[in-house]
Amino acid sequence: MIPLLNYSGHPLLAKLEDRELKEEILNRTLSRGSRGNQNDTSNVILQMLELRKQKAALFGFESYAAYVTSQQTAKSPKNIHEVLRSIAPAAIRNANAEKSLLDELMRLENPDAEVEAFDWDRYSEQLKKRDYDVDTGELKPYFELRRVLEDGVFFAAGKLFGLRFVQREDLVGYHPDNWIYEVFYEDGEKCGLYIFDPYARPSKSGGAWMNNLIDQSHLLGKKPIVVNNMNIPKPAAGEAALMTFDEVNTLFHEFGHTLHGILSDVTYPRFSGTSVERDFVEFPSQVNEMWMLWPEVLENYAIHFETGKKLDKSWIEKLNKLEAFNQGYETTHYLQAAILDLALHESDAPKDLANFEQQAIKDYGLSHQAVPTRYKINYFAHIFGGGYAAGYYGYIWSEVLDADSVNWFRENGGLTRENGKRFAELLLARGGSKDSMQMAREFLGREPSIDALLVRRGLN
Ligand SMILES: [Zn+2]
Repeated sequence: MIPLLNYSGHPLLAKLEDRELKEEILNRTLSRGSRGNQNDTSNVILQMLELRKQKAALFGFESYAAYVTSQQTAKSPKNIHEVLRSIAPAAIRNANAEKSLLDELMRLENPDAEVEAFDWDRYSEQLKKRDYDVDTGELKPYFELRRVLEDGVFFAAGKLFGLRFVQREDLVGYHPDNWIYEVFYEDGEKCGLYIFDPYARPSKSGGAWMNNLIDQSHLLGKKPIVVNNMNIPKPAAGEAALMTFDEVNTLFHEFGHTLHGILSDVTYPRFSGTSVERDFVEFPSQVNEMWMLWPEVLENYAIHFETGKKLDKSWIEKLNKLEAFNQGYETTHYLQAAILDLALHESDAPKDLANFEQQAIKDYGLSHQAVPTRYKINYFAHIFGGGYAAGYYGYIWSEVLDADSVNWFRENGGLTRENGKRFAELLLARGGSKDSMQMAREFLGREPSIDALLVRRGLN
């Protein structure tokens, strides 16, 4: 009656009170695909690992991880380990501190018990209510779709990059619900076209994304046409389309990819816009998320759709503080999976997957009785079915650059035309035509560092 979802956890764990039932849900989740299970994936996994090793050898690499990362900004597994190993101790230290707080809450209900993995969500929800006092559902009336796009997202792009957006109702998109804008630089020159496709419909994929219909290139004399897709429920005629907090964040994120595509200024289409390494491509879009809660931007778009009242500024601090909530758990949970992925693709295929998994996590100092890995090997679909083999580290890799760059913007005056010009010229406009880490270094004016990430996640 309770379908399992593909990660180590379940939404019901936050709600259920029966500890035995919760334990069973988590145990069944964690044992999917393992030995003794009728859907045992072990043999397929071992075969895939062996074939990947052979493929790497054909290209002259000693491991599949070495082969894959040679084409990413990370360059080698060694460089990745250096970063992950520097984050791991802070992650586990914070997971321990968080657990002590949860233990206190749990003892109010259950004096002799200690928090286990299946208890975590319930008590962390209680902790969030007690210490953070945030119900993001209250924000929805302040996030009207067109206002968020034009007075929030476009407004920030105007301040930073001098872009101007003019709606073209006369142009026809690929669907009647497309909103089409012509984009201009501040000197009046045409930059490209932007298509916004906001609403969910049965024929559309889930989630949100950006893609180019036309890549910018001087070789072919093409200006870019970029699309952003969202899946916001379409309101009835005459009613307002209101967005959730997460949807607004996602729109700023996806528009960060759009800026990469639309500000592209390269010769060859091969290197246009977002044609960069997988462990780099999320970095500019993550940076763009920072403007969502930037006071000058928020004030311009977060206006109650009925009363016209501006959103109270006290929300900014509350929402920023929330970034560090539960991050010891989240970071440990994520890093465990990231190092499992690397370990599997750096060594010979293991004899016993369960043993190998335990050992790899232990070697990194990331074992924790109440924090399971986000994916165990036997259901790690990202790396066995999703193209992320030896690439799961990429999420935190690009977040290191993201947090460092957000810090750079903050320290250098924030939302200014000068800062936007620097980000566009040294990074966005160059697409994949230069070495990515070199571009990041030139933008920051130094080597990237993990300090900003540790501060953001509250880990130091
Ligand atoms: Zn993205």
